[in-house]
Amino acid sequence: MKGLEIYKNLEELDNESKYLVHKAKEAAHHAYAPYSKFFVGAALMLNDGTVVTASNQENASYPLCMCAERVALYVAATQHPGKVITKMAIVAHKKNHKELAAATSCGACRQVMLEFEQRQHKPFEVIMHHAPNEWIKSSASTLLPYSFDASNLKD
Ligand SMILES: [Zn+2]
Repeated sequence: MKGLEIYKNLEELDNESKYLVHKAKEAAHHAYAPYSKFFVGAALMLNDGTVVTASNQENASYPLCMCAERVALYVAATQHPGKVITKMAIVAHKKNHKELAAATSCGACRQVMLEFEQRQHKPFEVIMHHAPNEWIKSSASTLLPYSFDASNLKD
């Protein structure tokens, strides 16, 4: 998809997106986030219907922490090579697990998403909970305009 769509609540999203958000919520419960107490889950839909989920993984050496999005993308590339990612959902919640926290992907994850889109020659939908009453559906290339990519490294 091109551009950005905004939804006022989750119910407005299509069923597959809602399902993926549900899977991302489940994955967030497996986050290892003892330092930030910010539990993030990501879920990918692959073109054969496979769902890949992941959560953020922290470390006492903070720079080694890894976002849920990148864990999910790297798992998909490793465990399901050649399959195309069609959709990705990202959710987060704080310590009490009672309600979702607004969380959009960091720049590093957007950069990695973009290269995955380029690797598979096809964008995928990215669904994020941007604000209490706002879900966004977009793509990596929209979320990271004027980006750096492999074309910058060519002679
Ligand atoms: Zn990130």
